[in-house]
Amino acid sequence: MKPAAFTFQRPAELSEALAAYAANPGAKILAGGQSLIPLMSMRLTTVSELIDINGIGELSFIDVSEAGVRFGALARHAELHAHEEARRVQPMLHAALSHVAHATIRNRGTTVGSIVHADASGEMPVVLTLLGGTLTVASTEGRREIAADDLFIGPLETALESGEIAVEAFVPALPARHGIAFDEIARRHGDYALCGLGVVLGLAEDGGIESVRAGYLSVTETPIVVDLTDCFADGIDASSLVAAGEKALEQLEPEGDIHASAEYRAQLARTLTARVITAAHADAKARLDQEAKA
Ligand SMILES: Cc1cc2nc3c(=O)[nH]c(=O)nc-3n(C[C@H](O)[C@H](O)[C@H](O)COP(=O)(O)OP(=O)(O)OC[C@H]3O[C@@H](n4cnc5c(N)ncnc54)[C@H](O)[C@@H]3O)c2cc1C
Repeated sequence: MKPAAFTFQRPAELSEALAAYAANPGAKILAGGQSLIPLMSMRLTTVSELIDINGIGELSFIDVSEAGVRFGALARHAELHAHEEARRVQPMLHAALSHVAHATIRNRGTTVGSIVHADASGEMPVVLTLLGGTLTVASTEGRREIAADDLFIGPLETALESGEIAVEAFVPALPARHGIAFDEIARRHGDYALCGLGVVLGLAEDGGIESVRAGYLSVTETPIVVDLTDCFADGIDASSLVAAGEKALEQLEPEGDIHASAEYRAQLARTLTARVITAAHADAKARLDQEAKA
């Protein structure tokens, strides 16, 4: 199928894009087009005007500092995935991006576009939430920063207001004595996950577990992060891992569809919770060992 007719413009400056968007709030921003164009082509959405931001060079950057990783609206999934410094400072980015779609889609799709698309089956909205990141948006009125916790307000719905373009996102660095892991189950590698999660686990100075936070995808309508720390007060073993899966499920809403039943998704959540927390614990210990040797 072909999309319905639309007008198109490709400004070279952010100020031009913002003015064009302010003049036509019914327009849509085109970034990588990997979600928007299929939706238009299948006529699941119609758009009167596309404002293509791909000509705005200032949106194409990845800046890494010891505080974290800041990336512009035109940073492609593939660029962020391959960025060694970004991986060092916040390894969750690389781990989660490894599961986003297929190489051709990662070459074009943008991580900020994925965040704004706000699909609770997508990896990067939940990663932004899990890491306590922020999204910066601009309009003709100025700029504002939105915390991930305030960003995802409904299925495929964000707190962006009319005329606002997302210009960059920021995720803080992984703190010392912390580890991460990410895993998901999809029918084929690169497909949207039937269920997946990322875990950030912190170790106390005595080696005990200080914090365990898990962000889940495809089992709620909006990105969700569950604090599972309480389950590990007496350390990590088979029973605490089972308890964590059950505790997480109290807050998840796995649903059935043509890809998987609700029961199967719930079982994936249990299995993956144990698997990913175990991996994050091993990662935290390995990083601690490395820090001690350095
Ligand atoms: C076959 C296939 C498989 C995929 N699998 C996965 C997967 O497993 N996991 C996953 O997370 N994603 C997956 N995707 C989606 C992919 O990650 C997209 O790149 C991403 O969802 C959207 O990024 P984009 O840059 O392509 O945005 P676009 O498609 O250009 O835009 C998406 C939406 O966000 C808006 N938007 C984009 N950028 C901005 C901005 N800067 N400011 C304001 N609004 C903006 C657009 O107006 C539009 O509404 C898949 C896509 C395909 C086609």
